[in-house]
Amino acid sequence: MTITRRVYFDHNATTPVDREVLEAMLPYFSTEYGNASSIHSFGQGSRAAVERARGAVAALLGAKPSEIVFTSGGTESDNLAIFGVVEGAPGARKHIITTQIEHSAALNSCQALAKRGIDVTFLAVNRDGVLDAAEVKRALRPETVLITIMHANNEIGTLQPLEEIGRIAAEADVWFHADAVQSAGKIPLDVEKLGVDLISISAHKFYGPKGVGALYVRTGTKLEPVFHGGHHERDRRPGTENVPGIVGLGRAAELALEKLSEDAARVARLRDRFEQGILAAVPDARVNGAGAARVPNTSNISFPEVASESLLIALDLKGMACSSGSACSSGAVTPSHVLTAIGLCAADARASLRFSLGRHTTEADVDYALAILPGEVARLRSISPEKKKVAPVS
Ligand code: PLP
Repeated sequence: MTITRRVYFDHNATTPVDREVLEAMLPYFSTEYGNASSIHSFGQGSRAAVERARGAVAALLGAKPSEIVFTSGGTESDNLAIFGVVEGAPGARKHIITTQIEHSAALNSCQALAKRGIDVTFLAVNRDGVLDAAEVKRALRPETVLITIMHANNEIGTLQPLEEIGRIAAEADVWFHADAVQSAGKIPLDVEKLGVDLISISAHKFYGPKGVGALYVRTGTKLEPVFHGGHHERDRRPGTENVPGIVGLGRAAELALEKLSEDAARVARLRDRFEQGILAAVPDARVNGAGAARVPNTSNISFPEVASESLLIALDLKGMACSSGSACSSGAVTPSHVLTAIGLCAADARASLRFSLGRHTTEADVDYALAILPGEVARLRSISPEKKKVAPVS
């Protein structure tokens, strides 16, 4: 079968590197190869590029350049924030507050700390995937050292009330980390407004390269390094700087800031048209998190009686890429922890797909998705062992 069209609706997994980002990076693989810690002119050129990028990332977050630590991506930033704050906090008994719907980078960091005897409260969210900030207040204890809560959820796109939680954290004098990997570059971020002490971001989610990210660390935050080595990144993250990657992250941050409001409005229009089209054409389809504020590009839809993996493969055969939140381990499909946390039964969670649009998504891409998806759902339902009486799509 020949694929006539390729449509990419998986920008929350990763984005293509912007041409301008690639061009900015290229010299740092070839002619500008100095180690940013070397004192000769080769090194100074790389250092200047790293510091320019630091300024650009700081501008994206409303932070000071000295508050930006470069890392290998969102996973490392989350680990550094969570382990770094907990290890930097005094006292024998320590407690962390987080949610049940965090990305595995934060969730598994908290679980690893729980195994070492740290108390962790995993707060529940409502049916739209939103946390009630009052729950954070109620969960506080004298020994609470960290609140770590994601900004935009990677599977359903819902946004958490960070400003409110930031006020609660400040009043209680508890460090507050937000995983903003899925909101950076999609909606405006301002560390002062949000009241956060630490923020994780990752370049490849906003048209930068993979394997590079940053952690914002508010001046005065007590943070122990997780890796041990040289004195790079103000003793917070040792290791020779990934200069091309950091330059790419910096350029991606500049472009995100420039294009953010235009991109967000255009992508939200396309996403809404996509959702309305699907809801009109597919009986029983439901948009998860639809009642909450969401990032503009993300749509998670349940198609009851359809195995999401089968639908994902059927769409891929027609050139359309999307994602299922479920993880496959030892041959068994485990339903997404996010979808079960918002109250979906295991069967519906296994019948849901994430569609995430991006800067280069067009009206024609949405038209194509709307042309193929309802038919594929109907076809899979007609052969589904779980089939109920669902009217076929004509
Ligand atoms: N946090 C969230 C919310 C994410 O969506 C991801 C990646 O999907 C990460 C953290 C991990 O980022 P990275 O891929 O840069 O390690």
